[in-house]
Amino acid sequence: MFDNLSGKFGDIFERLRRRGALSESDVNDALREIRLALLDADVALPVVKDFVAKVREQAVGAEVLRSVTPGQMVVKIVNDALIEALGGMTVPLNLNAPAPLPILMVGLQGSGKTTTSGKIALRLKTRERRKVLLASLDTQRPAAQLQLEQLAQRAEVTSLPIIAGQPPLQIANRAMDTARRESYDVVILDTAGRLSIDLALMEEVKAIRAAVNPVETLLVVDAMTGQDAVTTATAFNEAVNITGIVLTRLDGDARGGAALSMRSVTGAPIKLIGQGEKLDALDEFNPERIAGRILGMGDIVGLVEKAAETIDKVEAEKLAKKMAKGKFDLEDYAAQLRQISKMGSLSGILGLLPGIGKMKQQIENANLDQTVFKRHIAIINSMTPGERRAPDIMKASRKKRVAAGSGTSVQDVNKLLKQFDDMATMMKRMNKMGGPEAMMRQMQ
Ligand code: GDP
Repeated sequence: MFDNLSGKFGDIFERLRRRGALSESDVNDALREIRLALLDADVALPVVKDFVAKVREQAVGAEVLRSVTPGQMVVKIVNDALIEALGGMTVPLNLNAPAPLPILMVGLQGSGKTTTSGKIALRLKTRERRKVLLASLDTQRPAAQLQLEQLAQRAEVTSLPIIAGQPPLQIANRAMDTARRESYDVVILDTAGRLSIDLALMEEVKAIRAAVNPVETLLVVDAMTGQDAVTTATAFNEAVNITGIVLTRLDGDARGGAALSMRSVTGAPIKLIGQGEKLDALDEFNPERIAGRILGMGDIVGLVEKAAETIDKVEAEKLAKKMAKGKFDLEDYAAQLRQISKMGSLSGILGLLPGIGKMKQQIENANLDQTVFKRHIAIINSMTPGERRAPDIMKASRKKRVAAGSGTSVQDVNKLLKQFDDMATMMKRMNKMGGPEAMMRQMQ
């Protein structure tokens, strides 16, 4: 997905970047190429026109910041325009309603509606800890109800027992009654698919909607169908007023037009994207991340998340071993602080690091910010390896030397030593509570 568009944008920006200054004709050439690349990716014409006009307006008025080149500035402008075209912000599923909360799934046959119902059920169960009931109202396609039942089994959620011959509206009412009686949080109602926009089936959806009053009416569309997906969405939106769109097969070889046109043309937000056949291949639609993918600037958000996960695992295991042996020393403490400083954002990362996770509140109370971290690192750097391994040997003369070496005061050195001592004590205590395994579980 997006590979083609991404490649073309890459070429356009490469040419811009090679120039020191940009003339008006350079910008015009780039805009012409951007326009062609978007049309080629099957983006709707009005969306392309609007996009190019916005980029032009921004590029003309933009003051190039001193630290970047004009080419980089254009990349940034295009990036922002892409994010805007994609809808700006992630719009999550609306789960703020009294239980049982009905979600109505609509869409054409083969769009991935039934699969997506199963995916959403799994997501709500595992991520939101909701008790989910799945119900198929598809009495048109012979095996549809069975298909949903099997998906429910795979996702380990309950599906409404099938009663042969029961009409869709009655199934919907039965699902809601069951959910109320058995305290379900969410009911996902999978309606019958259509081969094309079919008025009779639209009427059926309207009747079901009137009966259950869904919090979300989600339209499932296949991204591979490009502009047709947008036409379908427009028709559904006019007929049944959708609250969000799920774009499936974003893992496929689609050109990306559907994702880029959908919001502007229909006004409805894309809430989720399907990226594979497996039940866990469902993600939030994140405009910033998609723009990053299209521009080939790499999925930076994903990278940071990965980095955080890696720190979490590798560091956690290493430190758990050291703690178990009572060998956590100032070297380890400095290593943790360096990781945190590198990651930039503090509060999110703090919770991930073992040892620090439990102390997060304490640290926040102590107002331990980046400057304090840097000071601590400087102090530890000024110590000898022996002092770092056994801080107990730090007496007055050593403290004076370290304070002078790190440009801090003896008071600062004392504070650090006290902090480390508290930390070590807490670790020993946690260790007694059941060893590293139990400790790690508690820290998560
Ligand atoms: P429905 O007729 O709309 O209910 O469509 P189904 O849920 O039966 O899906 C039709 C086919 O598309 C199935 O083979 C699914 O496994 C597949 N499918 C659904 N979503 C995705 C997706 O995000 N990516 C890929 N590659 N396949 C998908």
